[in-house]
Order: sequence, then C-alpha cells, then structure tokens
Amino acid sequence: MNKDQSSVLIVGGGPAGLVVAIELGRRGVPCVVFEQTTEPPPFPKANSTTSRTMEHYRRLGLSQEIRQVGLPETYTPDISYHTHFADYELARLRWPSIKEALASKPDPRWPTPEPMHRGQQMYIEPVLRRHAQQIPAINLRLGWKVEAIEEGLDGVSIRAVELASGKASDISGDYLVGAEGPRSLVREALGIKYEGTGAEDREFLGGRMLATFFKAPEFYSFTSKRPSWQYWAISKRRFGALVAIDGKGLFVLHTQLPRGVEKSEAFARESIEITAGREFSYEIIDIAEWTAGFTLVAERYSSKRIFLAGDSAHLFTPTAGLGYNTSVDDAANLGWKLAAVCNGWGGSNLLPSYGIERKPIAERNTRFARSIAEYFRSMSLPEGLEDQGSAGDSARAEYGKHLELLGAKEFDAPGIHFGVYYGNSPIVMGEPGSTPADDPNLYIPHARPGARAPHVWLKQGESLYDSFGQDFTLLKFNAKASTSEIEHAAKSRGVPLKILPIDSVDARALYGHDLVLIRPDQHIAWRGPSAPSDPYALIGKVAGF
Ligand SMILES: Cc1cc2nc3c(=O)[nH]c(=O)nc-3n(C[C@H](O)[C@H](O)[C@H](O)COP(=O)(O)OP(=O)(O)OC[C@H]3O[C@@H](n4cnc5c(N)ncnc54)[C@H](O)[C@@H]3O)c2cc1C
Repeated sequence: MNKDQSSVLIVGGGPAGLVVAIELGRRGVPCVVFEQTTEPPPFPKANSTTSRTMEHYRRLGLSQEIRQVGLPETYTPDISYHTHFADYELARLRWPSIKEALASKPDPRWPTPEPMHRGQQMYIEPVLRRHAQQIPAINLRLGWKVEAIEEGLDGVSIRAVELASGKASDISGDYLVGAEGPRSLVREALGIKYEGTGAEDREFLGGRMLATFFKAPEFYSFTSKRPSWQYWAISKRRFGALVAIDGKGLFVLHTQLPRGVEKSEAFARESIEITAGREFSYEIIDIAEWTAGFTLVAERYSSKRIFLAGDSAHLFTPTAGLGYNTSVDDAANLGWKLAAVCNGWGGSNLLPSYGIERKPIAERNTRFARSIAEYFRSMSLPEGLEDQGSAGDSARAEYGKHLELLGAKEFDAPGIHFGVYYGNSPIVMGEPGSTPADDPNLYIPHARPGARAPHVWLKQGESLYDSFGQDFTLLKFNAKASTSEIEHAAKSRGVPLKILPIDSVDARALYGHDLVLIRPDQHIAWRGPSAPSDPYALIGKVAGF
C-alpha cells in the first residue's frame, strides 16, 4: 500500500471519527483521519460521558485517563434547579461523586463498572487524539480539510487540502467514513437526507441558543452549598442551563436567543447576571451561537463503501446529553465491522448490519431527547415562584416536585444507555419470544442475543468485561460444556475467538445459558446450552456471512 492509499479513509476527527480510527488501528487496519482543525475544540461542547461510553473507553484502555479530565472525583455532579443561582433552590437530583460511587455498594439501577463521567468534550478529544497518534496504523492528518469524495466500484477516493500550505492531496481507500459532523459533505455527496424535525421553536432549548463560556470561581460562594454539575435557572425573566466544567470556576451557560436578538457579549453578560440574580465577578472567555431542537436521523447510513457516523448521521436536541454518546456507540459498532472486513474475516452482511442496527437506535435516542424537551415545555411556570413568604414557598415546593420528576426522567435513565438492543439484526442469532421492554428510565439486565452483555463484578475492581477478548468471546459458564465445535468453526472461518471460562453462579444466572457468544462491541450474538448443531453456520451468521 503506498502513502496515497489506505484501507479506510475517515473524514472528521471528532469523537466519532477518532473512535472508529482507534477501533481500526488497534486491529492493525491502516486508516487516515482528515481533521481540518489543528487544535482540539477550544469551546465547550458535550458535557457528559455516559456509563456506556465510559465502558467503551474502558475496553479501549482510555477510561482512567479520561476520568482525569473534567469534574474532579470528589465533586458531586448533581442537577439542581433554582429561580436564580443566588436565590431559591427548587429541586435537586443528587448524584454521588465518582469517589463515593466507586467506594459504595454498586447501584442496582446502574449496573456498570464505569459510573457516568461529567467531563467536557473539549478535554476528552485531546485524549482521543493523543491515543490515536500513538497507534502506528493510524495516520492522523490534522489541519487537512476534505473537499471532495468519490465512490467507485472497487474503492473510494478523497481530495483533501492542507490548510496551512494549500497543498492538495488525493488519496484512495477501500472504505470511507463520514464523521465530520452536521454539515457533512459525505452525506451530501451521497444524496442522503436527514429525516425528522428540524430546529423546533421552543421558549427554551428550541432554535437559536447562546453558549457563554466564562470563568467565575466566586460562583460557588453564593449558590447552594452542595455543588452541582448542571444548574438550571428558571424565572420569568430568563431560563438558563449552567454547566460546571472543571469544578474550580469554569462554566458554560446556555440561554435562548430571542427572535431578533443577535449574539453579543452584552446579551451574554445580561444572561449571566439575570440567571445568577446578583452581580458578581466573572470573566467571559468566549461566546458561540448554536441551534437546539433537532430530531434528525439520516434516511440511510451508508452506500456500498461509505458510512456515516456520529452527527453526520443524526442530530439531537441536547436534552439528556445523547449526541456525542450516540456517536461513540456508532463508532464502536462500525469500527469492529470495518476491521473484520478489512482483515478478511467479515462477510457481506456485516457492513450493511451497521445501519440496520444503528439507525433505529438514533431514532429511539433522538425521540427520547425530544420528549424531555417537550416535557419541560409542558411545565408552565407557576405564579409567585419568586415571591417571598408562604405562598411563594408552596409554589416553589409544588413546582419543585415537577422538576424532580423532570430531572429523574432526563438523567436517571439507565435504560436509554444500557438498553440498546439489536435483537432483530441479521448478524444476531435472535431468540423467539417477545422483545424486551425498552424503558428509558429502567434497565433490567438480560442476556437475550442483541443485548449489551450485562456487567458483573468478578472480584473487587474486576469486571467481566475486562476479560473479554478484543474480538469475539465465548463465555463458558459450565466446565463440562464443550466449546471445541465453535472454536473449530471460528478457526476455519478465520474469526478471532477467545474462550473465557467463568466460574460465577451470579453471572451464569444472569446470562441464562452455559455458552454465550459476545461480539467485539460487547453485545450478545448468540447463547445456548451447548454448541449448536451447525456451529459453522452460527459463526458465519455472526460474522456476516
Ligand atoms: C454547544 C453544544 C453543546 C453540546 N452538548 C452536548 C451534550 O451535553 N451531550 C452530548 O452528548 N452532545 C452534546 N453536543 C453534541 C456533541 O458535541 C456532538 O454530538 C458530537 O461532537 C458529535 O461528534 P462527531 O464526532 O460526530 O462530530 P463533531 O464533534 O462535530 O466532529 C466532526 C469533526 O469533523 C471536522 N470536519 C468537518 N468537516 C470537515 C472536512 N471537510 N474535512 C476535515 N474535517 C472536517 C470538524 O472540524 C470536527 O472536528 C453539543 C454540541 C454543541 C455544539
């Protein structure tokens, strides 16, 4: 392969593009990532890395490093609702700090080795970039903008320009991933449209928003004593969602830009002061306009050799923080499949299964995000919320109950993160019976094929996940169960397979069978009491033949 050629070309080095690259690179598949910027984002974007995304980072060996950025481990990442940050607290969703979560008994509602991490995307992207740069198979071209792409019968090609020098370069490959965000030239070149609803108008979180990035260590001296990760200000004058970024005084405040009002530092200052309800010292670092209220999913996720991942495939209302996290889950799904095909053991159904599995998840997740925004819209602001005295107290108490419910709906949602289910996928050996209920706010671990493999602690600090192989893993819960037939089938199809004997009554009960086949992305491909009558067909199906 010469330097103008690679197996996979990736347009965009945001979270989706970098995670696809890391999935490929660690399996030795050469790829080139074209990223137009030279530095990671200087402005806050996604504020939260969900447990499921952290599980992916754990699998990729990144979770510990990622925990070092963002809110410190002792910081309580609550969500609190206020009239103004300096005035009444209306409701609070308490959340343990990472230190508390890891030291206490596991939370049965959130069975995971990786509690959610409140870390800013602007801090996480450098970790991903650094890691990608250390993998020899990845060529990360920073400062390169892709200007055109083409798909042929046997491959793809890209024309990219190095922005600093103006030098153009043509490079060809076998496959291409469009991970370059909402204004995706790859999606456009393929003529793929978004389906769904564009920017919906709402009083808050619909239409034009202003994000104000500022520094104000003093904030902690006048707001509620117990720190929060997300502070909401809800008053007649202005709504605001304020997010703590480093726990030391860096914040981003999101406010709606009213019709006819342009983004300006004056409006940003006014918003900071109105939502705080008092004057205090702060320093604005930057402001940015963005648009909220999207519920959009690409009508298809791929052509023959080109795939969309991340925001190029879906756009969210930011409620519930799902845009970036859905993007990483896309990348985890696509990465191993592309690697399998490039390494010669993936069948022709493998790559088409990416869109079949992921599009319904984007539809489900965008729907959920929208439902939260709509729920908030339906909560009309009561009279007297800011009044002193008992009438005000009862208005606040009553409204606070609704806010608690809103907070729980939006944030205490393990089902949306862990309940991703591919039971009807062509590469999963589905089981008869009804599809498990999909409740965003409730996750009941189960091991039906298609589900995320349930997490189990094997011993202190050691998750079952930590023993999985890089590619397929066959869990063997009964020492007497024979695995040789499946091993032999995998070997003859060239499918990498690790046999993992597990001596755990709890895990066996949860997984429901003696043999369970786990995919590289930790989803269950098949389970049974013993090897199936045609193990070659089983391995063929899960590897896409
Ligand atoms: C203000 C704001 C707040 C947000 N808050 C949240 C949140 O709380 N939770 C959440 O989950 N999500 C949030 N999001 C959304 C989240 O940031 C995105 O969903 C996420 O970044 C998507 O990742 P991606 O890799 O698909 O795309 P991006 O992060 O957009 O990455 C695409 C990359 O491609 C590069 N690129 C674009 N075109 C080209 C080209 N032609 N050539 C080369 N490179 C190119 C871009 O420079 C960029 O680095 C927020 C977004 C914004 C703007």
